[in-house]
Amino acid sequence: MSNRVENDTSFIQIEGLKKIYTGAGEKLTVFSDVHMRVKQGTKIVILGESGSGKSTLLNIIGALDTASAGRVRVGHYDITALDEYTASEYRASFLGLIFQFHYLLKDFTALENVFLPLYMKGISKKEARMRASELLCEVGLEKRMHHLPSQLSGGERQRAAVARSLITDPELILADEPTGNLDPENAHLVGDLLFSMVEKYHKTLIMVTHDVSLTSRADECLRIKQGRLVYDS
Ligand code: ADP
Ligand code: MG
Repeated sequence: MSNRVENDTSFIQIEGLKKIYTGAGEKLTVFSDVHMRVKQGTKIVILGESGSGKSTLLNIIGALDTASAGRVRVGHYDITALDEYTASEYRASFLGLIFQFHYLLKDFTALENVFLPLYMKGISKKEARMRASELLCEVGLEKRMHHLPSQLSGGERQRAAVARSLITDPELILADEPTGNLDPENAHLVGDLLFSMVEKYHKTLIMVTHDVSLTSRADECLRIKQGRLVYDS
């Protein structure tokens, strides 16, 4: 496949990444010359003030947004040169995504929400349901899996989102303020759970958060400051 890059030693490689938004005659440089290297299995936390470009960076890594310049490689994918087909394959097979808002489908139970991404990949319904229910038990939702999102608490919905992010056994979990809508106690529980699950399944994690208490679980802590990505001190 032409978009696959062989012989790449680091799992994620970002070189000279720049993002400029243009619109209504205005030009906004969110960041420029961002460099980043991530080894497989590393847990990264990215901090930064609101509007500093954290979501933009995560969205580019997740092929949900495009770069203005620079290069992003993740595993064997050259993210900055993906065709649409490979981009959707990358998102469906290689990534687990968790956002501040859970994005669970409202008419489906927690179990259905978690098993759907695996079922849509062609795995049998029985097998997908079995794996989904195992994951839901692991995130502490064994008694809530037949409930609709509206019948779950905020913390439970984010637990379901954590289970859903892992169902396809992805290589990389991208989490954009996954605890941002929760009260401090639930934020701590969900943040802790996410780190534990990522460690258990040996995934690479990039998490954007405002919650500095979660930085202690990270291997590396970075910050977007004045359009640059720097080590947090
Ligand atoms: P953060 O996640 O750190 O709060 P964002 O990445 O969402 O920041 O946004 C970074 C900057 O880019 C902000 O100033 C925001 O207003 C701007 N921005 C985000 N998305 C767009 C867009 N689609 N068009 C124009 N500007 C945008
Ligand atoms: Mg954001």
